[in-house]
Amino acid sequence: MTNNKDNNNKDNNNKAETLKKQLFMKKANCWDLQSKDQDKIFEFAEGYKKALDYGKTERRFIYYTVEQLKFAGFKHLSEFEKLEQGNKVYVTLHDKTLIAALIGAEEPKNGFNIVASHIDSPRLDLKPNPLIEENELVYFKTHYYGGIKKYHWLSTQLALHGVIYLSDGEKVEINIGDAAEDPVFTVTDLLPHLDYHRADKKITEYVEGEKLQVLIGSIPYPDKDVGERFKLGILNLLNEKYGIKEADFNRAEIEVVPAHFARDVGFDRSMIGAYGQDDRVCAYTSLQALLDTETVTKTAVVLFTDKEETGSDGNTGAQSKVFQYLLNTLHEKMIGREPRIQEIQQFYLNSNLLSSDVTNAFDPIYAEVSDPVNSSYISKGMSINKYTGHAGKYSTNDANAEFVAGLTNLLDANDVPYQISDMGKVDAGGGGTIAKYFAATGMNVIDCGVCMFAMHSCFEITSKIDVYNTYRAYKVFMTKG
Ligand code: MN
Ligand code: MN
Repeated sequence: MTNNKDNNNKDNNNKAETLKKQLFMKKANCWDLQSKDQDKIFEFAEGYKKALDYGKTERRFIYYTVEQLKFAGFKHLSEFEKLEQGNKVYVTLHDKTLIAALIGAEEPKNGFNIVASHIDSPRLDLKPNPLIEENELVYFKTHYYGGIKKYHWLSTQLALHGVIYLSDGEKVEINIGDAAEDPVFTVTDLLPHLDYHRADKKITEYVEGEKLQVLIGSIPYPDKDVGERFKLGILNLLNEKYGIKEADFNRAEIEVVPAHFARDVGFDRSMIGAYGQDDRVCAYTSLQALLDTETVTKTAVVLFTDKEETGSDGNTGAQSKVFQYLLNTLHEKMIGREPRIQEIQQFYLNSNLLSSDVTNAFDPIYAEVSDPVNSSYISKGMSINKYTGHAGKYSTNDANAEFVAGLTNLLDANDVPYQISDMGKVDAGGGGTIAKYFAATGMNVIDCGVCMFAMHSCFEITSKIDVYNTYRAYKVFMTKG
């Protein structure tokens, strides 16, 4: 038997619990929310892993994408005199950037729905004069690209991918290290027994950039009277196989990337570990969303940029005007005449762009760098960053509340899980994306994508269910945004 006081307490507790349910934000684990979809989610990850394995460089990812687009009936922009509703069109530039569009019913001045991501990843690039012989060993000298932790690249299996132009103009594609029968390459590390002198070094100085030399051979050319015969032995091999002479490396772009493939991670296979998920995870999910869409009201666009990891410069980076040229060309072909300046301005002001990039997932092992209530968590849906940047919100887009409201209402209405986060504690560090460069055109822009562990490492970790929900979010944005 209970007394009145106990009953009152119980009522109050129930009331408080109900109120809490109504007022508090709760982000459920998506494996609880979508347990019945596990087969679909795992199947989606299989296609994604294949794309990662093929597309370890921006050029290779473009080749992969164009093949997928053509298979789905997309045609090159040059094949269209005029673009009409339902047309599927793509265009690439320098094999490093791409725009693919499904033409919508609305006129272009009402804007497009664009999902933009970058397809370059941190790596080692060969220097223009890479080939050297040292102590009867042959090396490629490299210059690292993007924000790497140099020690990640030591004592691991490496592959080479890229292009080299011979003196007669012939383009040679180099892809060595991915096939099981291929040799791989490596940057050697020092044994711990003799590493005492580096023990107190700062992490940024622990491995000097010049020490990132890739070991590529050790058998000499047989003639003992000739100098640098170890280098000659390797160059002779390259010449026999590809027709390469040393000077050809001056007109080459060869990237050193991890040789390993994408793998399932965990006993339950719930996660994906791979090189280059930043940011091919957003590129892949946006591409699949476009491929799986048949009709749209606003023209839906997938846009890939290069050079994000080094600041979005160059004529393939997001700061380049090429993206505006290409979008304006789509506009022109849709209306059948050159758009007036006011129409172009309206087009940019009315366009919505998801700057699709990865963010940090709260890692309990390194909890000290994150604000737990403003972090993204593995398996809790697509991550949205209202802003990125560093220190006092420098170098960021910072989407306005109206655009955030529109996007989150759209996701809520379509049961797409998402989480809104800030990458890391204030003043812990920071990072930028392509968002601010597209926002400069007047578009509505917000950062969103998949959260991950070990970003910029050779083995980045994502959750299969976040990858799948990001695909769903992009599809909803394209079809209903
Ligand atoms: Mn990125
Ligand atoms: Mn990055």
